[in-house]
Amino acid sequence: MPRCADFTCGRWRPERLAPKWAAGLRFNGHWYCSRECVEHAARIGLDAPAIATASAGALPPLKLGVLLRHLGAISEDTLDRALESQRSTGRRLGEELLALNQAPAEAILKALAAQSNISYLPAFDVTRVMHGPSWLPTDTVRALGLVPFEANEAQKRLHVVCTAPVPRSAMRALLKLTGWTAEPYMVEDDTWQQALRTYRSTAEVSGQRRETVTVVGPDAAAARIADSALLDRSVTMRTANCDQYTWVRVEGKQQVSDLLIPTVEEPCPAVRIAR
Ligand SMILES: [Zn+2]
Repeated sequence: MPRCADFTCGRWRPERLAPKWAAGLRFNGHWYCSRECVEHAARIGLDAPAIATASAGALPPLKLGVLLRHLGAISEDTLDRALESQRSTGRRLGEELLALNQAPAEAILKALAAQSNISYLPAFDVTRVMHGPSWLPTDTVRALGLVPFEANEAQKRLHVVCTAPVPRSAMRALLKLTGWTAEPYMVEDDTWQQALRTYRSTAEVSGQRRETVTVVGPDAAAARIADSALLDRSVTMRTANCDQYTWVRVEGKQQVSDLLIPTVEEPCPAVRIAR
């Protein structure tokens, strides 16, 4: 006769006498006697040591200015001027050059993509997003910074558009929690926003019961997970760390919830908007 898997509880599971109660709740495959015990277990699970984030490539990325010079997109003078004004504006070099109208947007995109060693799509047709996969909740897509537009089911590869810098940790989190490998293509910021809007309208049409919730701290996350367990009777929880938040995926038969727990005081804009 099994016991409640919460080690501080250890209540016996009364299989014959109280079948209703004996049903209990399943969390990550183990039996728990109550919502409180699931919450406790989830809270402990969220404290598990973070997975070490893989280091970026062995070589430091080439500087954007060097790449743009190499592409012949800007002159030495232009670069100097942009670097100078960058000091007062605090903008990134690519943004600065665009703001000063000193380099074609496509050249900057090309250089940013080269810097990250990925492909780029200068004229991305956002309607492709409508025909792509839509099983990720929109707010998760937004927080990850990766908008899917095509899937290779056989290879479990998801073609996604992103902006610079490439959200590598989000790509690793996606692989860990969904089993899909993201193949990123860089697009301009405005194009990415359009792609996200298109994704939102497409995902809403599909009407799946999937939600994304930003929660402050692991206590609030554990309470949410316990609520899901109560609703679905059996859920699993898996976690992955992104740069600025922990992504917790809670899956049951009827619903999938993505919980985003910001890990920095001021989360990235994507997470902030998701609230
Ligand atoms: Zn218990």
